[in-house]
Amino acid sequence: MFSRPVLRAMTCKKLIRAFSTQTENAIGYNFELNETQKEMQELARKFTKEEIIPAAPKYDKSGEYPWDIIKKAWSLGLLNKHIPQFCGGMGVGTVDSCIVSEEFAYGCTGISTALEGSGLGQAPVIEAGTKEQQKKYLGRLLEEPLVAAYCVTEPGAGSDVAGIKLKAEKKGKEWVLNGTKMWITNGGVANWYFVLARSSPDPKTPASKAFTAFIVERDSEGLTPGRKEINMGQRCSDTRMITFEDVRVPEENVLGAAGEGFKIAMKTFDKTRPLVACASVGLAQRALDEATKYALERKTFNKPIAEHQAVAFMLADMQIGVETARLAYIKAAWAADQGLPSATYLASIAKCYGGDIANKCATDAVQIFGGAGFNTEYPVEKLMRDAKIYQIYEGTAQIQRLIISRHLLSAAKQKNV
Ligand SMILES: Cc1cc2nc3c(=O)[nH]c(=O)nc-3n(C[C@H](O)[C@H](O)[C@H](O)COP(=O)(O)OP(=O)(O)OC[C@H]3O[C@@H](n4cnc5c(N)ncnc54)[C@H](O)[C@@H]3O)c2cc1C
Repeated sequence: MFSRPVLRAMTCKKLIRAFSTQTENAIGYNFELNETQKEMQELARKFTKEEIIPAAPKYDKSGEYPWDIIKKAWSLGLLNKHIPQFCGGMGVGTVDSCIVSEEFAYGCTGISTALEGSGLGQAPVIEAGTKEQQKKYLGRLLEEPLVAAYCVTEPGAGSDVAGIKLKAEKKGKEWVLNGTKMWITNGGVANWYFVLARSSPDPKTPASKAFTAFIVERDSEGLTPGRKEINMGQRCSDTRMITFEDVRVPEENVLGAAGEGFKIAMKTFDKTRPLVACASVGLAQRALDEATKYALERKTFNKPIAEHQAVAFMLADMQIGVETARLAYIKAAWAADQGLPSATYLASIAKCYGGDIANKCATDAVQIFGGAGFNTEYPVEKLMRDAKIYQIYEGTAQIQRLIISRHLLSAAKQKNV
């Protein structure tokens, strides 16, 4: 494996060349990783084994944000891989990012959400930012181990994004923001925020024109993160409410044009939902591995419990789930990289299915561990707590089914026309 100096010596150029070749070759069915992808996977796997897995129980207990792990991952080039090359990044695609993220999630999804949550804030800037905005805000994340955040949800509106109320008013060359965001990952630790605000006071304005997206600096006057929320799982991820009181944002920090914010905020999910899906697969794989190991060691009725068919079949179902959920996220990530219209509903399938599989695998792993599964000294109760959020954040399981059903029904109607 690679030593740190060797890793540093793996220049961006080499990775960029290899990732570009992968993109050009990404036509047709192929389940083989190229050499660079294998190297990145191996590096992420080693990092997970050496840095994330040993630290996970401590961070789960303390809920402390894992800055030391973020700094190490950043110094190895394992963060911000998707930032465009002209900003100094590697500009890698969604498939390649997923390969690394699944590994992190295998180690601990609290830490992996802390490591990857910044990408959600960055995605709209990559999608809709000007070259100047990208250089300034994405480039900053490459200069120092800093993170970003994505602020859309509010206390009164999560699934119903068009119901958000944070108000943006244009005053001269500035916008003034007032309102509250809720459940913001990296809320207390981000250096800057992507913020969606309602810029049209007219309730009849359609969502496609009523909202404006902004990049907002953390140290803006009037911007106050609340206390860190104590969540069921992924406890070291930093989730907060953020209040905006007369926060002044220069007009050059508008993303896209005024009124285009809703589309920008939603489009982001084509690329970020496969990343959430791959993390849920990492968690499901961990649940399967822990359960398999335990089932081979634990004996009842004079044989390992793995030899009881009821247990073996639970393991088989877990394996089926992990394999198929992995295929779903790879296809969604590939569609996003190709810019296909199907990317949106494929991302919903991957996110929805991955979340359900993670929950089933974690619950079954607890079952296979018996009483020990319910105890904090064993690894699987944490997996069950951590899994639940995959059916909630970045669009609940119900909202994903809404997107998928709308897509299939509209396609069916068009066929019948
Ligand atoms: C730990 C954590 C981190 C988060 N990070 C972020 C972040 O970084 N940025 C951000 O902007 N947001 C973030 N969120 C917010 C998250 O995306 C929302 O919580 C989620 O979208 C659901 O919104 P809600 O909580 O308002 O639930 P609601 O929208 O009130 O939904 C409640 C229930 O009703 C169901 N429901 C709602 N509408 C429908 C419908 N039309 N059909 C069927 N069922 C429906 C939902 O599926 C859910 O089960 C985070 C949340 C958590 C808990």
